[in-house]
Amino acid sequence: MNENISDKRKMAVEEMYQSMGIDKEVYDYGEAVWNSLADRWNEIDSLSEYNQLKVIRAMQKNKVSEACLLGTTGYGYNDLGRETLEKVYADIFHTEDALVRPQITCGTHALALALMSNLRPGDELLSPVGKPYDTLEEVIGIRPSKGSLKEYGISYRQVDLLPDGSFDFDEIRKAINEKTKLITIQRSKGYQTRPTLSVDRIGQLISFIKGIKPDVICMVDNCYGEFTEEREPSDVGADLVVGSLIKNPGGGLAPIGGYLAGKKELIENAAYRLTSPGLGKEVGASLQVLGSFYQGLFLAPSVTANALKAAIFAANLYERLGFSVIPDGKEKRHDIIQAVTFGNPEGVIAFCQGIQQAASVDGHVTPEPWDMPGYDSPVIMAAGAFVSGSSIELSADGPIKPPYAVYFQGGLTWQHGKFGIMKTLQKLVEKGIIVKDFDKRNL
Ligand SMILES: *Cc1c(COP(=O)(O)O)cnc(C)c1O
Repeated sequence: MNENISDKRKMAVEEMYQSMGIDKEVYDYGEAVWNSLADRWNEIDSLSEYNQLKVIRAMQKNKVSEACLLGTTGYGYNDLGRETLEKVYADIFHTEDALVRPQITCGTHALALALMSNLRPGDELLSPVGKPYDTLEEVIGIRPSKGSLKEYGISYRQVDLLPDGSFDFDEIRKAINEKTKLITIQRSKGYQTRPTLSVDRIGQLISFIKGIKPDVICMVDNCYGEFTEEREPSDVGADLVVGSLIKNPGGGLAPIGGYLAGKKELIENAAYRLTSPGLGKEVGASLQVLGSFYQGLFLAPSVTANALKAAIFAANLYERLGFSVIPDGKEKRHDIIQAVTFGNPEGVIAFCQGIQQAASVDGHVTPEPWDMPGYDSPVIMAAGAFVSGSSIELSADGPIKPPYAVYFQGGLTWQHGKFGIMKTLQKLVEKGIIVKDFDKRNL
């Protein structure tokens, strides 16, 4: 680019930031951190190029046509768009079949569906990677709950990760018994401080487990992990992968939905449970959502890449300011979540308020901590989203309890993610939590 134009543009951008409440010092510091990460941006661009081609190839192979974008009503028999989309998902995940439906209301529902349809009374479920995501505690019956697996006579066992985050192979071997039917492996750390599992590590774990009991079903909770690597867990032996469409694979456009991709029999079981025995995949009108499912999936590799850039920017900026961050600024990413530990409630609150102030929807709202049902401490959430509760969009939340960490994720565009993180720093400075003498600290 011509130097003149580029300098003028840089000044125009800086002026935009200032007109939107970002001080020059904050901008200069953030910009310096951003510019130091050019190699990471290149690496992520090539990842998203690979995954974009993977998605286009699957769509072309299955002859996605204009007619596929129209929905059905009523019973939804012969829904070309729905059936084709499920083939596209199966091709992307390299599985025999898939179930991708607006009738699956969220990620928890998709996971519950996978478990409840493939486990029978007397079977045992094993998590070899520690405590599963909060909402699954009630699905499994770890916390007493109506309709849980436990109520249906399905038992649960858990083997925690070792303190250094590695698998406890000895205990896993001991935990697998004649009742063990299904193993659930959560890829993302979720709202814990353990490391996220890479696809490689998931593959090692699955080989170990299959070496002990070849016919056990290995399921992966793939939430937040899709398109963060070239391969998915189903490429390394997972029999079933499960996730939410208002996270990565919906690309920010899907207004609802969940997916399961895996072995034909497992998907069939899930379909009979979702609709009814005898009906299975044959019913379930797609109404008006298919256009957004297809277009969202098309955008998903690029949207996920943007969220990864926002997370890496946050990690590096706060790490250099002396805060503890997971993953750290240099680590390879396997999901889109970034944890930053502030050590005090004010930091968590200011960060979330900064994210909210960056939103295009509800940017004028100030989030405050509140006592959410199901949580043992007040929680603050920043979510100014086009799709309510969507966490592939720029969002953050933090429980108001030690160690006072905030969990940040999303950003449909890297420009929005960058602006959001600049806003958080601005807010922390305004509240006096971070002193504005950055003087190029640790750059
Ligand atoms: C988000 C998430 C879930 C649950 O999804 P919801 O859509 O919130 O019900 C389950 N597991 C993991 C790892 C998640 O990140």
